[in-house]
Amino acid sequence: MSYKGYFHRILFVDLSQRKSKVWEPPPELWEKFLGGKGAGLKMLYDLGLDPDPFSPENPLIFLTGPVTGSPIPTSARSCVVFLSPLTNSAVDSHAGGFFGPALRKLGLDGLLILGKSPKPMYLEVRPDTVLFHEAEKLWGEGIFATEKALKERHPGAVVASIGPAGERGVRFACIGTGFWRQFGRGGAGAVMGAKNLKAIVVPPGSEKIPIADEPRFHELNKKLVEDLLSHPMRKKREELGTTMWIRMAQEAGFLPTRNFQACRFPGFEGITSEAMKRKLSWEPRGCFNCPIRCGKLARWDGFELEGPEYETTAFLGANLEIGSAKAVAYANLLCDDLGLDTISTGVVISFALEASERGLLPLPFRFGDAEGVFTLIRQIAFREGVGDLLAEGTRIAAEKLGEEAQYFAIQVGGMELSGVNPKGCASMGFSLATADFASHTRFWSATAEMQGVLSVESVPKFVKEGQDEVAARNSLIVCDFLPFGFDRLAPLFCALTGMELVSWDFLRAGERIENLHRLINLARGREEDTLPERFFAEPHEAGLFAGQRFTPEDFRRWLSEYYRLRGWDERGVPTPEKLAELGLPGPRLCQL
Ligand code: SF4
Repeated sequence: MSYKGYFHRILFVDLSQRKSKVWEPPPELWEKFLGGKGAGLKMLYDLGLDPDPFSPENPLIFLTGPVTGSPIPTSARSCVVFLSPLTNSAVDSHAGGFFGPALRKLGLDGLLILGKSPKPMYLEVRPDTVLFHEAEKLWGEGIFATEKALKERHPGAVVASIGPAGERGVRFACIGTGFWRQFGRGGAGAVMGAKNLKAIVVPPGSEKIPIADEPRFHELNKKLVEDLLSHPMRKKREELGTTMWIRMAQEAGFLPTRNFQACRFPGFEGITSEAMKRKLSWEPRGCFNCPIRCGKLARWDGFELEGPEYETTAFLGANLEIGSAKAVAYANLLCDDLGLDTISTGVVISFALEASERGLLPLPFRFGDAEGVFTLIRQIAFREGVGDLLAEGTRIAAEKLGEEAQYFAIQVGGMELSGVNPKGCASMGFSLATADFASHTRFWSATAEMQGVLSVESVPKFVKEGQDEVAARNSLIVCDFLPFGFDRLAPLFCALTGMELVSWDFLRAGERIENLHRLINLARGREEDTLPERFFAEPHEAGLFAGQRFTPEDFRRWLSEYYRLRGWDERGVPTPEKLAELGLPGPRLCQL
């Protein structure tokens, strides 16, 4: 069956041989894995899980979902799936902006890039092929200059590119697009750099996404848009951006502060949304087809930036004890241009500052010193001095500094934690510890814990179900901030594609995708599910364990129940029965 909503075309590119071809995925890829994250993981699995992340054989799989580029609001998003140099396992890194919709305008669902070019190059994507252009003059440039130059050369094009950090293999280098949006987490920029691929240019296209039942689709979508426009959360996000969470996290007591040593930052008033509005002349800005417009165009002292959003402000602000909106914005600007994930950068710097205080690493500055942070960001991107060690990420840096450093290395499976301080929100710590990789983009349980609607006993089930739902959403792909569930999205999806699915089917698909990610993590040698020792040793300041320690036994109790609910054994390995029930790993759908 040829479903609508997809173009059934993924462009394979081999940089080593300078060849490309269009691959038509079998319908089963969409039926079982939907698109986006799910389809990308299945393709990665089928291609083989042996490659070193920096090797030419590691694929960069840019994927859209059936929602991407469609009239459904927040349809901006796309992802890139790859073996991460930071976690050594699969990561799906998502970006808003315009890149995904631009691929769909060319009649493509995705782009799979393998191999390595002998010299720096950039790709110009066409509907049936790619053009290979030399990029030696762009190599060494920041993302802003690269994108500007390529947009002048290719009017109307959307560009994704890397900066010096990606060229130098910084393990948390990102891919930037639209100047200020990123495929941020996990080091996709380093994988792209290892391929000598500086940029991808997607020229304007005119393809229309096929819709199975146009009248029903437009009727349902019209109602969804109306409800979104009058939704209170939309208005709040448009006014305050995601940075509104700085004040909320401070009040709730889970704002990461001083390398997660504390949950409240005394200088937080300087980095709230209100402060950003005053200091940075914020204006709302949206991704493709998004009336939420959580982005904020900031202009200050001759600089321009979309941001800073919550995670960046938490990790380049509170967690480094920097309480100045302009300083956070400038650190954000540096990371965006040099091609660094702001979250991992903030956490690895806070780790280094604590290591310095403990006498393990000489650093010439302390928490709260913005100039010192700016210098260190540049050193990381160019791998200069101590920046070379930190460019390896928190896990490897801690291993090199010795046993004592493990305690305050705030990472799980190599990924620097994001979102909140688990010392004020244990459920979120558990969600991060059990996630496919420890990022806030997995499942955000913090709101429920903050509102007091979670009991200690309910956490494992709540987290498991939330992770499944997010996996399905990340496969469609809809933005986390679209405030509607599958009761609204399922009928729209059916009208779009012609598939006949109900809400439960999406949760089932999400569960399948989570299990596939677990299989990949196990095959790649991911360690046990746990949290850094700090979160067990120090009393919690807020949340379910306020005023007490969240002990390893508490965590283990949750984990046992979580594994039971997932149908995994006591080591966290999916049982043969569970895999059979989900049809995993299933036939090989993708091969070269
Ligand atoms: S809500 Fe924000 S991140 Fe999501 S699509 Fe809209 S502008 Fe982009």
